[in-house]
Amino acid sequence: MDPHRFPRNRTSRVDERDTIFSRYFMSPGREEAYYQAHPDRKERDNLWKKLPGLLSEQSAYFNPLAFASAAAMQPAIDALRFEIDGDVAPNRKETDPNFLQEYIRRWAAKMHAIDTGFCLLKPEHLYTVRGRHHYYGDPVETTHTYAIAFVVEMDREFTLAAPQAPVIMESYRQYLNAGVIAVQVASLLRSFGWEAKAHIDSNYEVICPPVARDAGLGEIGRMGVLLSRKVGPRCRISVVTTTFPFPVDPVQTNDNPLFFCEICRKCAENCPAHAIPETPYSRDPATAGWKINGERCFTFWCKAGTDCARCMAVCPFSHPDTFFHRMVRIGISRSKLFARAAFHLDNLFYGKRPPVKSIPEWMRPLNH
Ligand code: SF4
Ligand code: SF4
Repeated sequence: MDPHRFPRNRTSRVDERDTIFSRYFMSPGREEAYYQAHPDRKERDNLWKKLPGLLSEQSAYFNPLAFASAAAMQPAIDALRFEIDGDVAPNRKETDPNFLQEYIRRWAAKMHAIDTGFCLLKPEHLYTVRGRHHYYGDPVETTHTYAIAFVVEMDREFTLAAPQAPVIMESYRQYLNAGVIAVQVASLLRSFGWEAKAHIDSNYEVICPPVARDAGLGEIGRMGVLLSRKVGPRCRISVVTTTFPFPVDPVQTNDNPLFFCEICRKCAENCPAHAIPETPYSRDPATAGWKINGERCFTFWCKAGTDCARCMAVCPFSHPDTFFHRMVRIGISRSKLFARAAFHLDNLFYGKRPPVKSIPEWMRPLNH
């Protein structure tokens, strides 16, 4: 293997019960069995379990109106959970796959997806075992062979104020937005006689970033999330898996965005929890890429009361999808020399430690 290339797909798979969110929302009845099997995690998890937690009044960035606004979106997100799957129409309507693919791209764009991609569903996209809600402990098995990834944009003004309250408001809004798109597209496919399931906030059988990457929508960068080709990590993703035989999109094979990530390290240097590795990209197929320290990151979230996103705010790929920044992204993808120059210019114009922006004026009166 060429040591300078970046292997993309990890061969190891993930049990959802080991994810931080599964551990955070785990019922007391399940904790005993889980920590008996994983005694090493008990002490570390107890650290963040004693902290105020997301959207808590005792947290560092408590803002009554913004936190209440985020919480107000939760019932709608929860309601979507009951729409992710359903009956498949008995009479299949034959449809040209190329036509339906383009139709879904355009319809998703109307529903505010900034990018949509199609790929084959791979085993490593899937969790091995579910870790949330009443599916906890169920093995993940599917007959689906294709996946569609939808990317929605996080508002820049709200993101630049991270880790303050607006960012969690925006996260909830975009989880809802991405969820609505996936639920509707899955429902459409089922009504045409094909199996289809939406994977949305807290209801995932797939791990969204590798699906989106394999659908040609970007790369997985140092901070372990999708660097989308339009707005970098400043996005959220939902996925539909299906039996409909869509054509697949070309996957990203250009290494330059990952080369940029390797020289940049801005997210790692600005992470308040020191959760992002500063090490080079792992070329080991089992652990390919970078892996953030989820416990450190989540411990900060539990103090902040928000989902932080400072890494998202400072990333040079998060700049708006304007003509100028598009040209810079193209330049980075074409030339390592350009990538080095772009890195230094980003530091010059935005700073190595970009300041946290104030929360929007109209939200301030109720800020504590
Ligand atoms: S901040 Fe830099 S190192 Fe981090 S993900 Fe963005 S480009 Fe990569
Ligand atoms: S969300 Fe915040 S704490 Fe977590 S990795 Fe990003 S910058 Fe660090």
